[in-house]
Amino acid sequence: MDVQRKLEILADAAKYDASCASSGTEMRDSSDGKGLGSTAPGMGICHSYAPDGRCISLLKVLLTNACNYDCLYCVNRTSSNVPRARFTIDEIVKLTLDFYRRNYIEGLFLSSGIIRSADYTMEQVVSVARKLREDHHFRGYIHLKTIPEADDTLIAEAGKYADRLSINIEVPEDSLAKLAPEKDVRAIRRTMGRLRLKLDEATEAGASKAKPPRFAPAGQSTQMIVGADSSNDQTILATSANLYGAYRLKRVYYSAFSPIPDSSRALPLAAPPLMREHRLYQADWLMRFYEFAVEEIVEGAGMLPLDIDPKLAWALRHRDRFPLDVARASREELLRVPGFGRKAVDRIIATRRLTSIRAADLGRLHIPKQKALPFIILSDHRPSPRLLDTASLAERFKPKAAQLGFGF
Ligand code: SF4
Repeated sequence: MDVQRKLEILADAAKYDASCASSGTEMRDSSDGKGLGSTAPGMGICHSYAPDGRCISLLKVLLTNACNYDCLYCVNRTSSNVPRARFTIDEIVKLTLDFYRRNYIEGLFLSSGIIRSADYTMEQVVSVARKLREDHHFRGYIHLKTIPEADDTLIAEAGKYADRLSINIEVPEDSLAKLAPEKDVRAIRRTMGRLRLKLDEATEAGASKAKPPRFAPAGQSTQMIVGADSSNDQTILATSANLYGAYRLKRVYYSAFSPIPDSSRALPLAAPPLMREHRLYQADWLMRFYEFAVEEIVEGAGMLPLDIDPKLAWALRHRDRFPLDVARASREELLRVPGFGRKAVDRIIATRRLTSIRAADLGRLHIPKQKALPFIILSDHRPSPRLLDTASLAERFKPKAAQLGFGF
C-alpha cells in the first residue's frame, strides 16, 4: 500500500478524535469553481490551539487503525469492517517534515490503535517523536496520545518530546464497562495521575529556578464522547470537573457521537444535536473561568437547554439575584451577568473606579447591550418591571439563529 493510500485511511480514522478538531463552523469550499477559499482542512490536517492561544494546523493521523480492543463506539475497533493500514515510523516522520516544509502544518497530532501491547504501541508512538526531535531537530508542536497501561519510562519519554499528552476517557465511568470492556478505568486514572505528578515536578522545578525536566509543557487533555450512551450533561460535566480537579487537565474536549458503520445495537442510531456539544463547551467554560459549580449549571433533569446558553439559563432561574448594580457588585457577581465576559468585567472594574458607567458605554466595553440590560442597573438605566418578567425574557432570548462562540 502506498503512503498516499495509508494517509487517506489513517487520517480518516483519526478524525473522530476531537482533541484538535476545528468544529463549530460550517464546511464551505470552492471546489465547484465558485467562490474562493475553504474551511475544510486538507486530508489529515486539523486545527488546534497552541498554549499561547494561536490557532495552528496539525497533521492528525493514526500510526495504525488496527486495534486489539473492541470499543463499541470506535470505528477502529477490532470487529469493525474497515480497511486497515499502518505507517512505518519513518513514513510518519517524512510526512510530517514534508508537510511542515511546505507550510501545510505547524505540528503533528499522533494517536494509534493498540497493537501487540500497550508498551509496544507506546514505544512506536514515542519513536516518531524521538526521531523528529533528535534526528531532525523538529521544533514544531507535537501532541501524542498516551496508552494508559504503558510503562512509566515510556510515558516520561513521551513527555520529554511532546508538547501535549492526552488519554481519552471517552464516556463516564459507569458506561465504560459496557461500551469499552477492555478499557480499565483505573489504569486510565492511574496514568492521568502519573502525568499530573510529572507535570507538577516540572512546574515546581521551574519555580525553584532549577532546570526543570521537560515534560509536556502544554499539559494533558482528554476527550469525552457525547451521546454514545445515556449519560446526561450533569454526569458528563461532573466527570469533567473531577478530571480537572484531580489531574489538572488543561482541556476536556467534547465530541458528539457520530454513528459508525455496522455499529452495535447498544449504540444510538442517530447523532446527538451538535448544539449539545456546543452547550457542553460553554458549560465547561463556566466551570473553569466563571466559578460556576456543576450543580449550578445543570439542574432538574440533568440536561443543558439547547435553545439558550447555560449562563443565561442560570440567570433566568435566579431572577432574584438581578438586577445587579454594576457600580457596586463584586467581581464574582459581575461574572454571572449574561453577556459579561471576563475581559469585560476587568474593564468594568477599571472604569468604575474613575467614572460611573452608562448604557451607552456597554458597546465600548464589548458587552452585548440587549443581553445584559435586563440584568443590570447602570447610572442611567434600571430595567422596567416588564423587562424583568422571567417568562417574556426567556422568550426574548430564544435564538433566531444558533449561537456560536463563547460570548456569555
Ligand atoms: S482502544 Fe482506541 S482505537 Fe482501539 S477500539 Fe478503543 S477507542 Fe478505538
